[in-house]
Amino acid sequence: MSESSTSAADGPDQAASPFRDRLAFDLDVDICVVGAGLAGLTVAREAARLGASVAVLEGRQIGWNASGHHLGTVMPGFGLPISDVIERVGLDDARELWALSKEGADYVRATATEDLIPGIKPSDGALEVSNVDVGEALIGRLQTLGEDFATEVEGWQVDRVRSVLRTGRYFHGIYYPKAFQIDGRKYVHGLAALAMRAGVRIFEETPVVSIDFSGIRKRIVTPTARLRANHIVLAGNIHLGAPLKRLSDTLLPVWRYAALTEPLGERLAESIAFPGSVVDSDGIDHFRVVDGDRLLWASPETTWNARPERLGAAVQRRVATVFPQLGKVPVAEMFGGAVGVTVHGMPQIGQLRRGLWVASGFGRQGLNTSALAGQLIARSILWGDDRWRLFSPFELVWAGGTTGRVAGHFVSLWARGASSVAGVLARYREGARAKERLREARLAEANLRAGTRGPALRRPPPSAVRPARPPAPRQIEDGEAAYPDASQESERISDGRM
Ligand SMILES: Cc1cc2nc3c(=O)[nH]c(=O)nc-3n(C[C@H](O)[C@H](O)[C@H](O)COP(=O)(O)OP(=O)(O)OC[C@H]3O[C@@H](n4cnc5c(N)ncnc54)[C@H](O)[C@@H]3O)c2cc1C
Repeated sequence: MSESSTSAADGPDQAASPFRDRLAFDLDVDICVVGAGLAGLTVAREAARLGASVAVLEGRQIGWNASGHHLGTVMPGFGLPISDVIERVGLDDARELWALSKEGADYVRATATEDLIPGIKPSDGALEVSNVDVGEALIGRLQTLGEDFATEVEGWQVDRVRSVLRTGRYFHGIYYPKAFQIDGRKYVHGLAALAMRAGVRIFEETPVVSIDFSGIRKRIVTPTARLRANHIVLAGNIHLGAPLKRLSDTLLPVWRYAALTEPLGERLAESIAFPGSVVDSDGIDHFRVVDGDRLLWASPETTWNARPERLGAAVQRRVATVFPQLGKVPVAEMFGGAVGVTVHGMPQIGQLRRGLWVASGFGRQGLNTSALAGQLIARSILWGDDRWRLFSPFELVWAGGTTGRVAGHFVSLWARGASSVAGVLARYREGARAKERLREARLAEANLRAGTRGPALRRPPPSAVRPARPPAPRQIEDGEAAYPDASQESERISDGRM
């Protein structure tokens, strides 16, 4: 069973940082980062390693939101399915984006070692399972990931999936041997310590209330002090607020909750024998076994901020739905955080205007993507690496304000409902197929005994129609810019128009 654990089980922030100072004096730095979550800390650490003087201003405490309350699963890719990325930007750019997402995962792997962050307990392997019986689609995805995107993946047939996950709800699976998981809370505090070691100054309880980004030296105002910097990186996720409200408005906030159960004993291994993370292809359930016989399970979501304890029963219901044999599992702890989801599903990474950068919108898959953002932005500022422009086609789009939240909630309910109906249908069809096979076998046996031929056995439907390959990338016409200038978007934001 998995050796992984989560310090979420250890109660309130035992790994809490010693960097509690709030900024109480004026300061001049090269780079000011707003927000000490995964994104802000990675960009700060990388910029300091490249020689810049960096200050991080955190309104509350390091990792108090999603960055300190996640499941620690690190996979390549983005929240947006790769087929949609290809459709949007073409195969070549999609390949480059995917390669960046793998670099992000590699960054976490290289950082989350026992040497650098003691107690981080990395362990290998993740399995993406399908709620519906879609073997053909799986072949297509395996081909795209393995051949076009050079990612190590294995296709698992239904029997193999069910030999490690004893439930009739899952069908085929894609196994990612290079994916891994770590202790989520330890990671964000370890990252902060490594950033400090690289020379970053972190100030907690220091909300940024306004920014004047005109001019080369930009001015950042906090309740107790002012800062001047050549570059500002906005890594505040949905809580950024006043400094650039129109940027926060491009994110749909989604609160996601998770439970850690009490030890469940041997019965857990009888139901779940897979040692890594399991995610379903509809993004509904995400779980893994920790500490030998405890279950870490993320599932419910809201578009408002609810107290995690109130969602315990919802997790218990999900676990009992997927693994009825486990019954009502006793919950030891609930936790959760808000993720920022963009309208197009891709993160916001890039330069909004000269010296003003954004790293947010990482959604439910924030570990590899925030790491890639951190590396990319630090290298862009200090080395002139402009690969962030690959994200330019995914513009800043207003998420719809309160109406958008309500709509988002219903869309999410509908999507979850639709995938659950699809799951029921898939299971029904599977049962019907099994009954049909049994009936035909009995008929054949009866005919054999009676010496009659009987009707010809029904052929299975034509198998494995290969899905069409993704469309070829759109050719860029002569004279057409490969990447529209993202800073134009920011001018619109700062002008107060979208
Ligand atoms: C239950 C759950 C499970 C998850 N599991 C996984 C997983 O297994 N794998 C994975 O890849 N991802 C997972 N995620 C997603 C991942 O946690 C997030 O995408 C990621 O943490 C986002 O990081 P961030 O730095 O953008 O945001 P945050 O963690 O929100 O950090 C932003 C910080 O900025 C600060 N801030 C905002 N505005 C200001 C301001 N004006 N002044 C100063 N400071 C400010 C905030 O206080 C906050 O601390 C999960 C999320 C949840 C909730």
